Amino acid sequence: MGENRDVTSTSDSALPLVPHWIGGRGDPGTGERTGEVYDPATGQVTKRVAFASPADVDRAVGVAAEAFEAWRYASLAQRSKVLFAYRELLNARSGELAALVTAEHGKVLSDAAGEVARALEVVEFACGIPHLMKGGYSESVSTKVDSYSIRQPLGVVGIISPFNFPAMVPCWFFPVAVAAGNAVVLKPSEKDPSAANWMAELWAEAGLPDGVFNVVHGDKVAVDGLLEHPEVRSISFVGSTPIARYVYERGTAHGKRVQALGGAKNHMVVLPDADLELAADAAVNAGFGSAGERCMAISVLVAVDPVADPLIEGIAKRMAGLSVGDGRRSCDMGPLVTAAHRDKVASYLEAGVASGAELVVDGRDTPVDAEGQGFWLGPTLFDKVTPTMSIYTDEIFGPVLSVVRVPTYDAALELVNANPYGNGTAIFTNDGGAARRFQNEVEVGMVGVNVPIPVPMAYYSFGGWKSSLFGDAHAHGTEGVQFFTRGKVVTSRWLDPDHGGINLGFPENR
Ligand code: NAD
Repeated sequence: MGENRDVTSTSDSALPLVPHWIGGRGDPGTGERTGEVYDPATGQVTKRVAFASPADVDRAVGVAAEAFEAWRYASLAQRSKVLFAYRELLNARSGELAALVTAEHGKVLSDAAGEVARALEVVEFACGIPHLMKGGYSESVSTKVDSYSIRQPLGVVGIISPFNFPAMVPCWFFPVAVAAGNAVVLKPSEKDPSAANWMAELWAEAGLPDGVFNVVHGDKVAVDGLLEHPEVRSISFVGSTPIARYVYERGTAHGKRVQALGGAKNHMVVLPDADLELAADAAVNAGFGSAGERCMAISVLVAVDPVADPLIEGIAKRMAGLSVGDGRRSCDMGPLVTAAHRDKVASYLEAGVASGAELVVDGRDTPVDAEGQGFWLGPTLFDKVTPTMSIYTDEIFGPVLSVVRVPTYDAALELVNANPYGNGTAIFTNDGGAARRFQNEVEVGMVGVNVPIPVPMAYYSFGGWKSSLFGDAHAHGTEGVQFFTRGKVVTSRWLDPDHGGINLGFPENR
């Protein structure tokens, strides 16, 4: 990914401007550059988004740093009260957020509502922050000496998110960050920026003090501003692997704690004893939901002999029934996010054919239910794909499903483990022993057993392995709480008639 959309230095357009959100209010920024925001279903530019200058980032971080000084001392009771209020507001008004997501991302409304529901789960998890921040206490670690651990917030934390989940991915991080006592500067994707501002306004309604949650929009300039700012203590990034690697290296070089989640190529292995009806449903849902623009989408179907033929037949039959169109019209699948991305994904159809794969269903022929010139490409299925073809090696991030035929379970496992990505995977089988072996042997961070999109609940942690994650901490769950806090251990002795006297030796516990 990473392609920038038309970035101009004009701001005199009649289109509404999506401003930054700094210190509890909309802020047009000092930067002269703006970007275009499209409705992908019609192909129309509907808004412009402000692109932050380094001075805008600096201002947002300064406001956040000031707000942190008070917020860090808000009691756990006060913080969880704000979190509960945020949860209630988000739940009551989730439809508004879903509609915004559909209007700028293009995913169908029901899918956008599902995204918001998963975002809400992390807010609910963060409501339990008093319990999650509890430390340990050991009495009498030495004679009349006690020891206890506490966790403290980091300060200003930066979050940089991708276009494909404009509501859910920021929510993987900010509810936990805010609940733990940090102040946030979020830099969402410039392709669908409005969800971030909507969620920021909701914080104000929920009673979060101004400046604790801020949004700066833009591109590399804004990202670099956060990566290099001395007041930013941590970076949580989600996006493509090349940018994730860059963010990790640059952020850590500037002394920050960084978790950078990258791209994916998720394999679904189907063993001969699997329920093929279930597997065909799962492959279609996980391959083409959200037009394949999910980091947990299935893009490779690994068919272990002899399931390929009946499985492909079942999948192709289901694909023929999928409706593609404007996400506001009860369709199954919407458009791709931009014209450039649509063209790039479509180029893989030519590349696949040229490299000898068999094009079973051609998405370029799919009828579309929409007005205007949206960014359309229908569900596409390739058979006889081999690991050297670009449709296998590249993360396409579109509605293109590739079938690789393999002779055995071992060959399937070898294929999955040889892939540089390790975000999600699934095995379809009725053999508990095979499933157990797979969950143990596969080198992937999130594994589904007869579940094609195994996205962990908020109280577990989300994240992949290998080139799908740089850093040590996954998102939300216990790892999320640890990421947004620093541990401290206190060893204390209160005055007692027995003072202990002088001893220059290294402390020993007696
Ligand atoms: P992207 O890498 O292009 O952009 C992600 C963020 O980085 C955006 O905020 C963008 O403005 C910024 N950015 C883009 N180019 C940059 C540059 N050169 N320097 C600094 N910052 C830059 O990703 P995308 O296209 O928005 O999202 C799709 C990608 O995200 C896919 O690769 C997908 O697999 C991945 N993704 C991964 C996960 C996960 O959990 N691992 C989740 C969602 C999406």
